[in-house]
Amino acid sequence: MPNKLLISSCLLGQAVRYDGKSKAIPDIEWLVSLQEKGLLYPICPEVSGGLPVPRPAAEIQRERVITTTGLDVTGAFKKGAESALTVCQKENIKFALLKANSPSCGNRQIYDGSYSGTLAVGQGITAQLLSEHGIKVFSELEVNALKNELMLNQ
Ligand code: SF4
Repeated sequence: MPNKLLISSCLLGQAVRYDGKSKAIPDIEWLVSLQEKGLLYPICPEVSGGLPVPRPAAEIQRERVITTTGLDVTGAFKKGAESALTVCQKENIKFALLKANSPSCGNRQIYDGSYSGTLAVGQGITAQLLSEHGIKVFSELEVNALKNELMLNQ
């Protein structure tokens, strides 16, 4: 059974980011191929959690997610993470390609909560929840490693 892949919508060129823009990765042909085979599952956890586009940027401060305008959006972030997990569990998805550094999708680093553009070791809310449930999360900086995993686990 070929592997399915959950992917951050913004990496596919969908304009769902906080600033109303996308962040499409350059090498998209292999993703189009997966999409054509019905193996690609795009999601924006923040939009799934009920947040609008555009929206104020947010960062994780201890256990909460707070926007630059001081709004606590932790509930929406958690709801979006649960949506992503539900898709993975329903579709038996074991791999995810999520946008680096995002407070939802970042898999290795996130902004440190000081709104100064400083990265720190940590995971976004969705990346963490998926990891805790055994889903292997890669970022767009780790595409080659992801491709290898997908091939090894065919
Ligand atoms: S929540 Fe994830 S998918 Fe949505 S815009 Fe942010 S990084 Fe992209």
